[in-house]
Amino acid sequence: MKILLLGGGGREHALAWKIAASPLTTKLWCAPGNAGIANEAECVPVDLTDHAAVIALARKLGVDFVVVGPDNPLVAGIVDDLEAAGLRTFGPTKAAARLEGSKGFTKDLCRRYGIPTAAYERFSDAASAKAYLKVKGAPIVVKADGLALGKGVVVAQSVDDAEAAIDTMFGGAFGASGDEVVIEEFLSGEEVSFFALCDGETAIPLASAQDHKRAFDSDKGPNTGGMGAYSPVPAFTDDLARQAMSDFVLPTVRAMKEMGCPFKGILYLGLMLTAQGPKLIEYNVRFGDPECQVLMLRLISDLVPALIASRDGQLKNFDLRWYDEAALTVVMATQGYPGSYGKGSVIRGLDAAGAMEGVEIFHAGTKAKDGAITANGGRVLNVCGTGKTVAEAQRCAYAAVEKIDWPEGFCRRDIGYLAIGREASKP
Ligand code: AMP
Repeated sequence: MKILLLGGGGREHALAWKIAASPLTTKLWCAPGNAGIANEAECVPVDLTDHAAVIALARKLGVDFVVVGPDNPLVAGIVDDLEAAGLRTFGPTKAAARLEGSKGFTKDLCRRYGIPTAAYERFSDAASAKAYLKVKGAPIVVKADGLALGKGVVVAQSVDDAEAAIDTMFGGAFGASGDEVVIEEFLSGEEVSFFALCDGETAIPLASAQDHKRAFDSDKGPNTGGMGAYSPVPAFTDDLARQAMSDFVLPTVRAMKEMGCPFKGILYLGLMLTAQGPKLIEYNVRFGDPECQVLMLRLISDLVPALIASRDGQLKNFDLRWYDEAALTVVMATQGYPGSYGKGSVIRGLDAAGAMEGVEIFHAGTKAKDGAITANGGRVLNVCGTGKTVAEAQRCAYAAVEKIDWPEGFCRRDIGYLAIGREASKP
């Protein structure tokens, strides 16, 4: 089977690594890919916003199956366009991707179908949003309705901060994504990600993961795309996993089918484990980055038939097997990220680090230049370790980080600390 994978980050490197390992894969291309993905797939340049160009490329290559990694092309309807062109594609349609593309859509669905989430209201003008705010007080959460590169959520500790966020969003800072705003109740608890694979009719559980959004140790500093992750999450018990399926995933799949936009693809639940039980913070409609990297390391089964079964509506009676071992990934980023940063610095020591027992290195923003690997983005590498416990996986990953010689890079030193604290306090 000839497969085309779309994307070029750490998530897609992990997907390429797993897809390339499938006996069903005869040839894998990745567009646009990166320097690490080039070890698993033939990388071909393409602009993912140009759907006609992606279709032309898939036709020229004669691919049998297309896998879409990132959110933007999904929300823009790339699956609809590829399928309309006769190309079998893994991922949700544009209408189904509203679960990520519109926070208001998801909140209304939760309300209608009794899915636990923070109390909220939707607004399309600043004055009524501010009036609601005055009644509710702080802390409170202000969200731009649409995709905003992870920057459209403000957890406001004061009414002044919330008002400023409302003005920024309606002021056009996020373009059309801020035409509508959701204001919701502040939830406290531990955040966990849970993933399920859906086929429009039904769904199967994948696994739990926890990511670290802040740039610096002890969850300090600005928000980022994610500085590390691990799986499984000890706090996320088997009972919670069953509850995530019965109270969140399956009602959502049923709701989407009833609404005429069946959901196929990865459903990613951002959950807050509150004192009243788990509540939905958000849905995403694709694998997380860097959560995907740790999930792929824990997956025993072949990924390709699962993706095909999702596309074909055949997940009923399907099952996936997972290693019990933990996997943990440390993101190495260019100094300055998530603010401005330079490009082109040389990274050495990757081969020695990657050859260590239990270690896998997935590339995000890298470029091959004159036989060297250079940094070509903010988040650059995912250094992954595995082990019997999260603590062991952490030791393994940081031992590999030590072997990487890249003075222009930095990473957090405490990825996995919540789980490791829990493991240490176990009798
Ligand atoms: P989102 O883009 O919806 O995932 O939000 C980004 C981050 O904002 C989440 O990972 C949470 O840490 C935080 N957040 C979002 N909604 C809430 C909420 N209702 N209460 C507390 N924190 C929230």
